[in-house]
Parts: sequence; structure tokens; C-alpha cells
Amino acid sequence: MSYTLEEASSVLTVDLGKVKRNIERIRAHIGSNVDIMYTAKSNGYGHGLIEPTLYMRDHCGIHCFATGQLCEAVELRQAGVKDFILVMGGIPYSGIPSFVKNDFAATVYEDTIPRALNEEAALQGKKVRVHIKIDTGLRRFGVQAGEQLAHLIETLQALPHLEIDGVYTHLANGYSLDKSFTHQQMAEFEKALTQLKEAGIRPRLVHAANTAACVASPECYYDVVRVAALIFGYDISPGIKNRLGLEPSMRWTSRILNVLWAEEGENVSYYRFFVPKRRTKVAIIGFGMGDGYVRNLVTRDTAHNADVLIHGKRARLLDLNVDVAFADVTDIPDVKIGDTAVLVGQDGDEEITTMELGELGGTSNGHVCCAITSRPLRQYING
Ligand SMILES: *Cc1c(COP(=O)(O)O)cnc(C)c1O
Repeated sequence: MSYTLEEASSVLTVDLGKVKRNIERIRAHIGSNVDIMYTAKSNGYGHGLIEPTLYMRDHCGIHCFATGQLCEAVELRQAGVKDFILVMGGIPYSGIPSFVKNDFAATVYEDTIPRALNEEAALQGKKVRVHIKIDTGLRRFGVQAGEQLAHLIETLQALPHLEIDGVYTHLANGYSLDKSFTHQQMAEFEKALTQLKEAGIRPRLVHAANTAACVASPECYYDVVRVAALIFGYDISPGIKNRLGLEPSMRWTSRILNVLWAEEGENVSYYRFFVPKRRTKVAIIGFGMGDGYVRNLVTRDTAHNADVLIHGKRARLLDLNVDVAFADVTDIPDVKIGDTAVLVGQDGDEEITTMELGELGGTSNGHVCCAITSRPLRQYING
């Protein structure tokens, strides 16, 4: 990022002090026998990939990382992260030389990638750590306990440059109060663990819990919990709201660029997107779809649209273009060019969270956060 705070139209401020306190609260919740694996993916759910990771390593005692894709793991290494990094997704064949060179740990769930990794590791004179992925019901990556796992074990044991370092699964339904599917998944996972034990394999790291399970399902803990949302303060678990007392670490603000009065029945924005039913004072604000604000939070049916906070009051969004948004400020006095609009965060007694936006837009906290592009300037503070 090469522009300054003064030059940016919208600023996404990440409070690393809150990240630190969130991690302390998570540690108190999971106990000292369980560690945290920070899943640094998708630009750190909008908070930036590198800075939060380095901060967690240097100030929060986190030394176990995972990424969604190989490219993110490469970025972390380039930024000087020498710690353990598990790549949770599939690896493109073309990336295998880099994968081995960077000493990443691989997720394995079939034969071909392990063979290719073994061959490349032999060439480079290295060993590659692998984590066996068990498919307990998500149907994405993984082998099922029984025949499939037996076959994978056999394959891996014949590959001398691979070392079985971990075994894990991923939950499909941790966000539901009804735990029956989660418990069905855990039963499948336990079967796989027994099978590994019987084959004489005792992986260093066994893991299953994501953010939702970390809060609500201690029965899924094992050695580490894999979390991202929780660290940034988003408790999206079912049941009691925010029971760990976490603090959302993101604040996203923009500035008002124009204020105008639109008459009843006039056109506002493209395609008569907004037609005022009364004389309406409209603020044009410096963020839009190009900043990754989720489009379906701003519809023609303004009754269900998201708000921004201006002077501590809610202003309903009326439309969203690529570079700007339109908000109704008829009932907010003295709104002028240069004033701040809070998209996410607190302003006076009001607060808007990404969790609330996810719900409002019929999507998720993850979508609202991951959609944010690189254009909003990332600012890191320690509050
Ligand atoms: C993203 C991810 C996690 C953690 O995500 P949360 O949103 O914090 O729950 C855990 N495990 C896997 C496999 C993931 O892809």
C-alpha cells in the first residue's frame, strides 16, 4: 500500500490490542493443554495477511499457523514467518517445488500429491510434514475412516521423504445449536484416530475445532484449535452471544464527499435506483463496491438496507456504486463534506459489526470481511 491516511477515501483500522486481549480470552477458555493455530487466510479476513500474523507471533505467543492456499503461505514466509505453516487446501502441482523449498506442512487426502511431494523432497534432500485430512462429513477434502484411510496410510508409509505430523478434520455444522451432526463427525474422527493408533501412527498434532467449536464444543478440542474469526473478535458460535467477551478488532470509516437535497420523485444514482418518497438529504460517501462493501446490503428496498453511522446516528444506505455510496441524512443535522461515516465500528452509542452486516445481508461475517478489497487503507493501532 503506497498511499497515506490523508489520501485514502476509506480506512480500515485494526486494533491489535484487541487482538491480543481476544487471544488471552480464548486461551483462558480453552485451557493450557490446548494451543491456538491461527488460520491466516483470505487477507486475514480483511484485516491484512501479514501484520496481524507478525503481531500474533511477536506479542501473543502464537507460533502455529495455517493458510487456505499455498500463495498465502508463501507470502508469510516472504514476510519472515519461519514458524510452522500448514496449507489447509489442495496444492497445485505447479507449486510443489516451492512448497517443498519453503518447508510447509501439507494436507493430504489422496495419492498423487503425496507422491509428487515425496519425489520433489527427494530431489531437494528434504522431508515434508503432512497432515492427514479425515472427511467426516463436510465432503471437501479428506479420506474416510476405514478402507480409504488404510490405503492412504499404506501410500504414505511407502514414501520415505514424507513424515506424518498431524491428522485433522473440519466441521460442517459447528454453527448450529443442534450438535448431532457435529457429534456424528467426531465419532467418525475418533474411528480414524483409533485406526491410526492401531497402525502405530501417533501424529504430533490432532485438530478439529474451528471458531464455532472453539467456543461451543470443547469436545472437539484435541491439541490445537484452528481459528481466525474468533481472534478478530467475531464469536459466530451458536447460543449465548459473545460469551468470551471478545472485542471486534475492525473499524472501517470513510468520508462524506458531497451533500445534496433530492426532491420527491427525482432520480438518484444509476437506473433510478433510489427515488425519494419525500424531500431527502443525501450524503455521497467515499466507499463503494470497489472497496468490497457487500452489494446485497444495499437494495432498492431501503427498509432492509445497512446503515452507516454519522455524528453517532444511523444513516440508511440508499445505493452503492463502484467508488461511492449514498446515504439518507435527512434527519441528521449539520452533515457536511469531510465528516466521517463509520461503516463498521462504534460511533457514540451506536455500533455496527460485520456479524450484524452478515446477518442483514443474508450472508456471513466471513463474507462481509473477506470481500473487503485492498483499496481501503489498512491502519494498525494498539489500543
Ligand atoms: C478457515 C478455516 C478454519 C478457521 O476459520 P474460522 O472462520 O475462524 O472458524 C479452520 N479450519 C479450516 C479447514 C478452515 O478452512
